[in-house]
Amino acid sequence: MEKHSLRLLISEEEIQKKVAEASQSLIQKYQDQEFLIIMIMKGSICFVADLIRQLPPEQVSLEFVRCSSYGKRGTQKGQLVIEGLEKIDVKDRHVLLIDDIFDTGDTLEELATFLRAKQPKDLWTLVLLFKRIKRKTSFLPDQALIEIGDEFVVGYGVDYKERYRGFKEIYVITP
Ligand code: 5GP
Ligand code: MG
Repeated sequence: MEKHSLRLLISEEEIQKKVAEASQSLIQKYQDQEFLIIMIMKGSICFVADLIRQLPPEQVSLEFVRCSSYGKRGTQKGQLVIEGLEKIDVKDRHVLLIDDIFDTGDTLEELATFLRAKQPKDLWTLVLLFKRIKRKTSFLPDQALIEIGDEFVVGYGVDYKERYRGFKEIYVITP
C-alpha cells in the first residue's frame, strides 16, 4: 500500500459547525417550500449526508450526478465527465446543486448552465470548500462554506485515487 503524508487542515468540529450554519441558512432560504438537492458524486457524499439530516425531511428530495476529472491519475486533472444529468426532472422546481470543492469552477459552471436550460424555478449552488485561486471564468458558487488555499485535499468524502474518503476531517496530502 502506498504511504502518503497527510496534514490536518480542517477539524471535524469546524466542518460540523459550518454544516450546521449552512442548514440553518437553507431553512431560512426555502422556508416551507419543497426543494431538490442534486449532489455531485462521489466527493460530496459526507457533506450531503450530514446536511440532509439537518433539513426538514418532508421538503427535501435527493438526486445525484457523477462527475470525475481526476480518476486514477490522482492529483492531475483530466477530461471532465458528467453522467446522470439527463434523467433528472428539474422543471419548475427549486434546485440546490451541491459539490465538495470549487476549484477552477468548470464542473459547477457546466452543470449550472445545463440545469438552467431545463428551467428550474430557481437554482442555488453550494460548495463545502472554496479554493482561493486565480480563475479564468467569472462564475462563482452562490454559497461556499470554507475557504482553503491552492492545495490538494482529502477526507470527508474527498479522495486521492479513491482512498481517504472516510476521514471525518480534511487533510492536505502530499503524494
Ligand atoms: P473544478 O471543476 O472546480 O476545477 O473542480 C471541481 C472538482 O475537482 C471537485 O468536485 C473535486 O471533485 C475535484 N477537486 C478539486 N480540488 C480537489 C482536491 O484538492 N482534492 C480532490 N480530491 N479533488 C479535488
Ligand atoms: Mg467532484
